[in-house]
Amino acid sequence: MASLRFPDPLCRFHRFPGIDSGTLCRQASPAPGPVERLSLWPDLYDPRFFPAALGLSDAITAADRAEFAVIGKMGALDRHGRPYHTVNSYLSDRTCYFGSPFAYAAFAAESDAELGRTRWIGKRGIRTLGSMLEFGKHIERQRIFYRWVRKAYKNKYGHDKNVPELIRRGMSDELAKKIAEVRGSIRVRRAHEQHFKTGGFNPRPVKLCGCYRLGTLSKHATGMAVDIDDTANAQFKAEDWQSIEEFVGRRVMRFGRWKSESDAEALWTDIREVNDLFMKRVASEVRRIERERNERKVEVATAQGAAMAADPSWVAPPLHAVLGERFQALSPWAHRGFFHLPLELVLELHFRGFVWGATFHDNVDLHHFELEE
Ligand SMILES: [Zn+2]
Repeated sequence: MASLRFPDPLCRFHRFPGIDSGTLCRQASPAPGPVERLSLWPDLYDPRFFPAALGLSDAITAADRAEFAVIGKMGALDRHGRPYHTVNSYLSDRTCYFGSPFAYAAFAAESDAELGRTRWIGKRGIRTLGSMLEFGKHIERQRIFYRWVRKAYKNKYGHDKNVPELIRRGMSDELAKKIAEVRGSIRVRRAHEQHFKTGGFNPRPVKLCGCYRLGTLSKHATGMAVDIDDTANAQFKAEDWQSIEEFVGRRVMRFGRWKSESDAEALWTDIREVNDLFMKRVASEVRRIERERNERKVEVATAQGAAMAADPSWVAPPLHAVLGERFQALSPWAHRGFFHLPLELVLELHFRGFVWGATFHDNVDLHHFELEE
């Protein structure tokens, strides 16, 4: 039997070039005014105004470099999901999003002050804005994180909006009401699944495989998305999902299959089937490798085959040998499976107007359900 290996590297992020030039700005910027007119928005491509954004290294300050070092520890990507390979690529993206270095500095100072002073006194004591944001133990990371998140909130809801108040509001009333309806539905209660765990509100950017896509705002931040039993139901990058499909020899049509209840049921059935096939294949491949190794052990012992023993696949644990470069992404799900949501629950969420993350293009988010805004 042919060996079923995962052929592609785990993470293809590094195929993408970093944004090393300000000319790659993908965000619509205000139109530059004529040269003779004094404009609040100078030409983005004019290096007199944005020298750092154009990669002129002597314009990069020590503070920029320090900020980039912090960014490196945060697990941050640009809004398209590409890593920042260089300080220039980060600064270009930052300039696209916040405007000139001067505009950024002003926004950063305002943002840091807001983060430092915002606290609410309630019945259960004092709650700080910082306690509601990620990176609570790393103030430097949290400050930069909050600048990006705050800007994203303002872009979405208006620049005069009070962002801490938006965050304080948490899960939207609409989402809370819908989740209560799902829990109370007869078919969900009959399936004894009303005790599912929900993770809801989090003021953060969209995540891709644990990294933050700076310059985006998650539906978890707008209070319109919920994660259901996320410890038992996976989120995969599109390429990891594709490798699973290749491994089990079954391709699932995921797009546009959420219109009717029968679409939703067919999608659930297909994903469940891929999950079951995946677990079976992994188990049978692990057994095959163990069997082959036992046979080879005898050969090596008798022929003293040093070359064979030096083969890296010889020493890798069987599961590692099966999953190859995908080990990190897939091994947590290899034995227990990556999908456990009951059909009744998924159908009820469909009925209540949620969109399922299984139908997303850039990732397959099996625990994620969101409402349209
Ligand atoms: Zn989610």
